[in-house]
Amino acid sequence: MMPTALDLDSPTPALTGRAWPPLTQDFATLGDAFSVPVAVSPLPDPVLVASSAPAAALVGLSPPRDAADEHDWALAFGGHVAAIRDGSRATVYAGHQFGNWAGQLGDGRALLLGDWPDAGGGRHGGSGAAWEVQFKGSGRTPFSRMGDGWAVLRSSIREFLCSEAMAALGIPTTRALCLVGSSRPVRRERIETAAMVTRLSPSFVRFGHFEHFSYTGQTEQLRQLCDWVIARHAPACADAPQPALALLQWVVDRTAQLIAQWQAVGFIHGVMNTDNMSILGWTLDYGPFAFLDAYDPLHTPNTTDRGGRYAYGRQPAIAHWNLLALGQALLPLIDVPESALDVVNTFRPTYVQAMQRQLAAKLGLTQLRPEDGDLFQALLDTLEANHSDWTLSFRHLAQLAADARAPIPPALAAQGQREPQRLADWVARYRERLRSEPRDDAERAAAMNAVNPLVVLRHHLAQAAIAQAEVGDFDEVRRLLRALERPFDAGAVPPHYTEPPPEHAPPACLSCSS
Ligand code: AMP
Ligand code: MG
Repeated sequence: MMPTALDLDSPTPALTGRAWPPLTQDFATLGDAFSVPVAVSPLPDPVLVASSAPAAALVGLSPPRDAADEHDWALAFGGHVAAIRDGSRATVYAGHQFGNWAGQLGDGRALLLGDWPDAGGGRHGGSGAAWEVQFKGSGRTPFSRMGDGWAVLRSSIREFLCSEAMAALGIPTTRALCLVGSSRPVRRERIETAAMVTRLSPSFVRFGHFEHFSYTGQTEQLRQLCDWVIARHAPACADAPQPALALLQWVVDRTAQLIAQWQAVGFIHGVMNTDNMSILGWTLDYGPFAFLDAYDPLHTPNTTDRGGRYAYGRQPAIAHWNLLALGQALLPLIDVPESALDVVNTFRPTYVQAMQRQLAAKLGLTQLRPEDGDLFQALLDTLEANHSDWTLSFRHLAQLAADARAPIPPALAAQGQREPQRLADWVARYRERLRSEPRDDAERAAAMNAVNPLVVLRHHLAQAAIAQAEVGDFDEVRRLLRALERPFDAGAVPPHYTEPPPEHAPPACLSCSS
């Protein structure tokens, strides 16, 4: 429903008394070359769409208890509370987009508010506080270029739900504390309304931050940023003969692990530009992402990506490419350029090993053997030929008895209807392999169900929650969040959340417009 009138100067409704912890701003200490002060534009008629109790717990907040408390949250995280919004800054970065140098970018609609200590008052790495807090969708900044600085409700729901879904899957990701909607109209392909996600991350530094200082010849600032990231997040690198090279290795390793985790759950980021790559190796910037339904390595939900550069199966190669861009950016701080190349090229073997471990775990294998690579590839080929559902296939494989005389469970057979013989042949190989494993069927099933989710944020589930929220009903967003918070737990997930999209459901067709 569209709002009819807007009064941005209407008096802010009274607060009901929650005390918000004060934020410090460590990133600001780097200086004005790194970020500039920008005031938050508060959302008119803020309303709390949803909040994440697990994310709140990270920073020692209790989730809202009642309607009055929700109102407090809406005001605070809709940008109306000075203690939270004051001191906000936009950071400058650059990046390669779709393989091309895009020049200077920066926080075009996100603002860094400062740092919150974690729930235990803890600090990590070196000197900094545990969680940086950011608003996304808080208005124009000097880096907005042609953008309006807003984020629409639709895309904010997707970012909010997916951040928390990924965290519950055990995948490193920026977190989403809460989501606030508003009456502000925003023009995209149609008129929508503005929303804000409050994000938490130990750091929002991207590969693109390093690229900015490197390619503009600001070597001193490049070194400053490198030292700052090391001190806060990778203190062991400070003792290395070449800290920048050690940091590069640290990022390569973490990115390789991250991408293996993405591939294992069938997550497609959709827009892996270097400005969307976190220096922590965490998932960052949820735009035109999707989870695989039917297994298809060339699938991308991003309609802007005509060549499929960021398709599911290309994500490992793209991560490698992006790490090369980061290595290139760090060269002014590295003695021998070849050593940076050598470090970046450890990505491939590290990734392959991480992915093999993921697949072994998904299949309930306790050890990885040299010949398992062939077994894994044969499974992927079988799933592709059968258009099998990625998520369900692994849950159904957990039900398979190792005994060669037992029938293939009907739910698993249903995933292999196009080429049933191919599935049967693969099952025979898998059973043969299971003979050398110590686990019995029940133990293997339990282990598989602990790593293979029952529910992921499928496009049609997100769309259903968005459709309701756009007419003012947030119940489905909240229900879906609760299921996504316990993705492995059959008791916590209503059965309809586990189903693949209905035949007639439109495929995910997403653009970067959000
Ligand atoms: P993305 O493709 O979402 O990663 O965005 C690329 C760049 O465009 C980043 O610098 C964003 O901050 C900026 N940007 C995206 N959408 C908007 C918007 N609506 N208003 C201002 N800047 C935006
Ligand atoms: Mg981005």
